[in-house]
Amino acid sequence: MLVAVRKIQKALGEDRVSIEQDDIESHGYSEWSTSNSTGRPVAIVTPRSTEEVSAIVKICTEHRTPMIPFGAGSSVEGNFSSPFSGICIDLSGMNRILAFHEEDMNITVQAGVRWTDMNEKIKSANLFMPMDPSPTAYVGGMIATNCSGTNAMKYGTMKDWVVNLTVVLPNGTVIKTKRRPRKSSAGYNLNALFTGSEGTLGIITEATLKLAILPDETSIGVATFPTVKDATAAASKLIRAGVPLAALEFMDEVQMSVINQNGGAGGRKWTEKPTLFLKFTGTKDSMNEAIRQTQKLIPGYTSDRLIFASTASERESLWAARKEALWALLAVRPENTEIWSTDVAVPLSRLAEIVDLSKKESGNLGLFSTVLGHVGDGNFHQAVMYNPKDPEQYQAVKACVSRMMRRALEMEGTISGEHGIGIGKKDYLKEELGDSTIQLMRALKRSVDP
Ligand SMILES: Cc1cc2nc3c(=O)[nH]c(=O)nc-3n(C[C@H](O)[C@H](O)[C@H](O)COP(=O)(O)OP(=O)(O)OC[C@H]3O[C@@H](n4cnc5c(N)ncnc54)[C@H](O)[C@@H]3O)c2cc1C
Repeated sequence: MLVAVRKIQKALGEDRVSIEQDDIESHGYSEWSTSNSTGRPVAIVTPRSTEEVSAIVKICTEHRTPMIPFGAGSSVEGNFSSPFSGICIDLSGMNRILAFHEEDMNITVQAGVRWTDMNEKIKSANLFMPMDPSPTAYVGGMIATNCSGTNAMKYGTMKDWVVNLTVVLPNGTVIKTKRRPRKSSAGYNLNALFTGSEGTLGIITEATLKLAILPDETSIGVATFPTVKDATAAASKLIRAGVPLAALEFMDEVQMSVINQNGGAGGRKWTEKPTLFLKFTGTKDSMNEAIRQTQKLIPGYTSDRLIFASTASERESLWAARKEALWALLAVRPENTEIWSTDVAVPLSRLAEIVDLSKKESGNLGLFSTVLGHVGDGNFHQAVMYNPKDPEQYQAVKACVSRMMRRALEMEGTISGEHGIGIGKKDYLKEELGDSTIQLMRALKRSVDP
């Protein structure tokens, strides 16, 4: 591996390769990740172009050195862990917008472009790319995890926004998956092959993404409920009635108290009860109609239980409470504890049941745990704080999480709605997909990376 590092230093220049301990640690461990490996990369390299990525990859392959592509490092399942050490390829230096095709409503960017920066730059054209994972995430990492976020209810997931990809394969060959039309049925859908491949099949260096029109108006509603079951039942009712919501998010009473302890997002004091966050977008008329339908559909909905944001700053502060949930959790975490956070998704009709059961089970652990999620598409997250050095506690949490994932599978759901598999969920993936499907995935992997 060190021979490979020296060759890369020679090819790219010494300043593009770091062997600093702090760098290695920040690229090999994440405090918000459920799984971390003990292995660390030997070096971090920072390419600036597809050609440089190809040169690095060729050297790594020649020296049988594992390579780990790294975006912003915001993934939460040990996705960028380096259990076999190797060289971490940090794409942050590839942060250029290459072409903005305003009329075609698409944009071509390098993999290290941060989605929030990109959306800021194109907003004057009234366009945006709707996926919203961590505000720090890069386009390459977002595609590699097939991420989504709160907007998925209206706009789908990352796979729906990829027009084409430039990918460096493990032997250094550079391929492009498609050209630039909004749709194409020419050949295998290689966009889908690389979207969600978590860096295992190649390194995405460039991507063309579809863009959506920024909505005219946005309003945020927040509604509190006496129980989790009431909240999830209301969510199902709204979805089934076809109320055109842009997002429908849930946080339980514990998560609401965490938000309060952490400053309340804009200083607001929240009611510590199971809460739904609703996002309405569209024209003023269509939005008002959706709000009216919502008020009608949820029985007992009164103005003190349902608040709507009227100004832009109020809207931002209401939504920030939802988006900052994970960081808020980390901020209140007692010393010596870690967060075990899982993400599962089930068919919509089973959501209320699985949230209720999972919450009861984690409550029985006697540990601090919260439930939150993108309930608009049957996806929710549970986070439990535990002491990793207490073997009994660790085993109890592991068993509880394991039952939650099996329950999701029994309900024809998935062990990961949006965070991917990483190193933490590999065994469950076998259960979800079965041997034959895993064999096909192995065959695909070997065909590009013998
Ligand atoms: C506060 C917070 C909120 C979040 N909210 C959401 C959410 O709502 N929805 C959601 O889906 N996720 C969410 N996430 C998780 C995370 O933001 C997403 O998984 C995101 O897509 C990861 O992007 P990244 O650039 O940080 O990738 P990284 O974490 O750097 O990498 C993720 C994976 O992709 C691979 N990879 C990275 N770049 C490339 C590349 N160029 N080519 C090939 N493989 C690559 C890595 O090897 C790794 O396997 C959240 C995380 C945080 C911390």
